[in-house]
Amino acid sequence: MPLAIFDLDGTLVDQEGAAREWARRFVQTWSLAPDACDLISAALAERRPKDEVFAGIVRRYALPVPAEDVWADYRGQMPGLVRCSDEDRAALIDLRSAGWSIGIVTNGMVDSQAGKIRATGLSELVDGWVVSSEIGVRKPEPEIFHELARRLDVALDGWMIGDSLDMDVAGGRRVGLRTAWITTDSAPSSGPAPTFAAPTVADAVQLILA
Ligand SMILES: [Mg+2]
Repeated sequence: MPLAIFDLDGTLVDQEGAAREWARRFVQTWSLAPDACDLISAALAERRPKDEVFAGIVRRYALPVPAEDVWADYRGQMPGLVRCSDEDRAALIDLRSAGWSIGIVTNGMVDSQAGKIRATGLSELVDGWVVSSEIGVRKPEPEIFHELARRLDVALDGWMIGDSLDMDVAGGRRVGLRTAWITTDSAPSSGPAPTFAAPTVADAVQLILA
């Protein structure tokens, strides 16, 4: 049975939109300056450890609260804020009907990542998932992909679909998967080459099934 592995944030769910909404609420709660929403949203979109990001936010606005508490609040709220598009949902259903096994491999904390998978109903559309904090290994390390194949009891043979060249495309290539890079960027990239690029999961699945 062929295997399709999806990234979560920025691939199956609109992480940036959800993070922006969290930032909007946070700015309101603490009555921060109007430009704080943009600055915090930008910080949350940076690809660096979240503990550093939240420590930076607390320091910048001199908030009388531990950074861990702000990070925990963010993780608690994100499952309720992310969305998965109807088109992408339909694509997962098509893929499954065509006999594919479907998994999610995501870097992050298990409370927030598994929370998002369940709250969006993606848990019903996939066969399983691995969150990096559960096993202490992050993409692009091969072990996280092998762990998913073990959990699904399938061969690690198929596709990796994700929005990060460094994590998803590079990681997928390292374990011999074909790769679809989810991007709306038309500029050619200098990173690892994906098998193809597509703007959405639904588009990528259509190409894979063709
Ligand atoms: Mg991603």
